[in-house]
Amino acid sequence: MTRPSPAIFVADAPGLDFLNSIATPVDEPVDAIHDGEGLLDWLAQSGMVPADVLVAMRDAAMPGELDRLAAQARSLREWFAGFVRKHMGESLPAAALDHLETLNRLLARDEAFERIVADGDALRVERTRRWGSPESLLMPIAEAMAALVTTEDFSHVKACEGPTCTLLFADHTRGHARRWCSMASCGNRAKQAAHRERLKSRT
Ligand SMILES: [Zn+2]
Repeated sequence: MTRPSPAIFVADAPGLDFLNSIATPVDEPVDAIHDGEGLLDWLAQSGMVPADVLVAMRDAAMPGELDRLAAQARSLREWFAGFVRKHMGESLPAAALDHLETLNRLLARDEAFERIVADGDALRVERTRRWGSPESLLMPIAEAMAALVTTEDFSHVKACEGPTCTLLFADHTRGHARRWCSMASCGNRAKQAAHRERLKSRT
């Protein structure tokens, strides 16, 4: 299998990075989680699931099981993208809870727990979960979505201004002046376009 290109993590919020797992870097949409392998790869790159868990899950999966999980992740993403796009640009009202039932149902299945681990000379509490079923791989994604709706100011959740770009991000810059998914791609293209405009207006 060919290695997928590195996933895009520019959102400054993992819940939005998940939405950006489908993107249009050139002109065709590329879906990083179009199948089970893609999903495992995206989870590894995001750091949401430990590598040994992903390996064990891949080994234990029944044929087609991970592809079905990826399909589930894609519908979750589609649902959440609708929610975020509807509410971004203004602070999220508590009434939005009415539309988050899907997420709460998923969160209710989490088998997360805390345990005490050694940390150098000290002890600390670590949060982890039972990775029982393939579906448990969706739990860190659900957690990231929950974090987005509870800790992120939706007034600063934005879509990149690139004309064909579909990427979302949380604008954490001072003054909230961020306009682009990244300066290297859309920001740079906009700068070049502005430069061409200036040249044209001079002639
Ligand atoms: Zn962009």
